[in-house]
Amino acid sequence: MMDKIIEFKDVSKVYGENENQTYALKNISFSINKGEFVVVLGPSGAGKSTILNILGGMDRVSQGSIIIDDNNITNYNDHELAKYRAINIGFVFQFYNLIPTLTVYENVALMKEIKKDILDVKEVLKGLGIDKHMHKFPSQLSGGEQQRVSIARAITKNPTILLCDEPTGALDSSTGEMVLTELKKACKEHHHTTIIVTHNMALGQAADKIIYIKNGGVEKVVVQESPCEISEVKW
Ligand code: ADP
Repeated sequence: MMDKIIEFKDVSKVYGENENQTYALKNISFSINKGEFVVVLGPSGAGKSTILNILGGMDRVSQGSIIIDDNNITNYNDHELAKYRAINIGFVFQFYNLIPTLTVYENVALMKEIKKDILDVKEVLKGLGIDKHMHKFPSQLSGGEQQRVSIARAITKNPTILLCDEPTGALDSSTGEMVLTELKKACKEHHHTTIIVTHNMALGQAADKIIYIKNGGVEKVVVQESPCEISEVKW
């Protein structure tokens, strides 16, 4: 029996008012277990980013509830939501959000200010092949290297839930594969429940669970008992 960590119950998200109303999400329900490596697939505009934003406590639902580890976060006030974000959530965005005046090491070690039980910074940088750039500033790195630093920062935070929005969107295929390998490794070693939103259907091969989103709804959920390794994915 797996431990359920995330549950969406009939969640809707509406933007705009009256005749301008659009449902970004309409009555969606699904659940995710602790330590699962989950891939969320679906066309552009389907509602994938909205799911991540709500799950990350950056936006609120219009209807329904979200249960995280037996707590209904839809009842949280702003302060509780901020604490939930700080303690539980790690984010990887397509854009890197690094602090230009801090070195690579400092950008990652910054997580110590937010959370106590973080992972070893140098180890994580090494896994992502960027330890040699540890003392450089973001402006001295390529885009792909900067993205790896932002991923190192998210993994180092040792979050309960790691949310990734197109984490390899700006990377060449071999760097992308390296990043995904490290994300899956951290997921399995440190039990980071990892949710990756992507356009890349092939990544589904490596997922414990694939959630297909279409027109603001869950089209289907596929559970895979023996997903392949990232290195075995047929891209
Ligand atoms: P995806 O990530 O799958 O591309 P999104 O979650 O970004 O989809 O968007 C789902 C729908 O909600 C789209 O129709 C989008 O235009 C709409 N939407 C998203 N954010 C907003 C917003 N802040 N205001 C109004 N509409 C929005």
